[in-house]
Amino acid sequence: MALLREPLLLLSRSGVVKKLVSTMPVSAGIVKSYVPGETTATAVEATRGLVDDDLKVTLDFLGEDTLDVEHADATVAAYVELLRELSSQGLSRSAEVSVKLSAIGQALQDVGHKTALENARTICRAARNAGTTVTLDMEDHTTTDSTLTILRELRKDFPETGAVLQAYLHRTEADCRALAYEGSRVRLCKGAYNEPEEVAYQSRIDVDRSYVRCLKVLLAGQGYPMIASHDPRIVEIASSLASRFGRAQGSYEFQMLYGIRPDEQRRLARAGETVRVYIPYGQEWYGYLMRRLAERPQNLSFFLKSLISK
Ligand code: FAD
Repeated sequence: MALLREPLLLLSRSGVVKKLVSTMPVSAGIVKSYVPGETTATAVEATRGLVDDDLKVTLDFLGEDTLDVEHADATVAAYVELLRELSSQGLSRSAEVSVKLSAIGQALQDVGHKTALENARTICRAARNAGTTVTLDMEDHTTTDSTLTILRELRKDFPETGAVLQAYLHRTEADCRALAYEGSRVRLCKGAYNEPEEVAYQSRIDVDRSYVRCLKVLLAGQGYPMIASHDPRIVEIASSLASRFGRAQGSYEFQMLYGIRPDEQRRLARAGETVRVYIPYGQEWYGYLMRRLAERPQNLSFFLKSLISK
C-alpha cells in the first residue's frame, strides 16, 4: 500500500484527472466522509455539530494552485462571507479559518507573493472583525520560505496568525525554534506532499522521530503548539511530553481532520484536552481527497466505486 502513496500524490497535481472526477458531487461516496459539503451553509452546519460536542473547528475553503486573479478574489470573498456567518451565528469563538496561500494568489507569476500577502491581510482583517484567527496552511516545500515570510509580515498587524510546519522537512526543527516564541501559534503536522529526499525524510520512522523532536521544541517554548496528527503513538507521546514540560491543558491543542478518528477527537475532549477539527468545504475537493487517499490507500477502492456509479 505504501507504494501507492507517490503515484496518488502525483495524481493530486494532475489537471486531467482532476477534470475527470471533479464533476462528481461532494455527496458522492468517499468524498462525503472527508468533506461535509460545498457551501458556506453546510460548513457552518458541520461546525455547529462539532462545537455542540465541545470541539473547536478550523475551516478551509478548498482550493489550491490558483492561476487566475478572479479565482483568488472569489476565494477571499468566500472566506469573508464564512467569517461573517460564523460571527452572526455565535460560532467565531470556537471556529477559526485555515488558508492555503496558493488558493489566494501565491502561485501567480511575478506577483504571487505580493498578491497572496494582500489577500491574506483581507482575510485576517475579516477574522479579527469576527473575533477569531487565521492559520496559514503549509503546502509543498517550494512555498515554505514565501509562506513564512508572509507569516512574519502578517504578524506585524495580526500577531494572532498561526502557521503550519511539516515534520518531514529537514529544516523544520530549526523553523520550530524560530517560531517557539510567546504568542506564536504553530500547527505541527507530518506533511502531506510528495517531497524529494534532498529536503524531506522519506521513511515513516524518520518522519515520526522528527515529529517528536519538533514537538519537544514547541512544548518547551513559549508559543501555543497545535498538535495535528491522528497517529495514536504521536497523541500518546504528545500527552506525556506536555506534562513533562509542565504544560497545562489548554496551553496547547490537538487537531484532527474532519471524518478521521471522530471517536478519538471526542475522547480527548472529554479528557479535558482542547481539540480542533479541520473542516474542508467547497467544490475543489480533488487535491485534498487525493492526499487523504495517499495516506490511506485502503480507501482507494471506495473512491473508484463512487466514480463508476456516478
Ligand atoms: P499517519 O501515520 O498518516 O496516520 C495515523 C493513523 O491515522 C492511521 O493509521 C489511520 O488510523 C489514521 N489516518 C491517517 N490518515 C487517514 C486518512 N486519510 N483516512 C483515514 N484514516 C487516516 N499537511 C500539510 O502538508 N500541510 C498542512 O497545512 C496540513 N494541515 C493539517 C491540518 C490538520 C488539522 C491535520 C490533522 C493534518 C494536516 N496536514 C497537513 C496533513 C498531515 O501532514 C498528514 O498528512 C496527515 O495528518 C496524516 O498524518 P498523521 O499524523 O495523521 O499520521
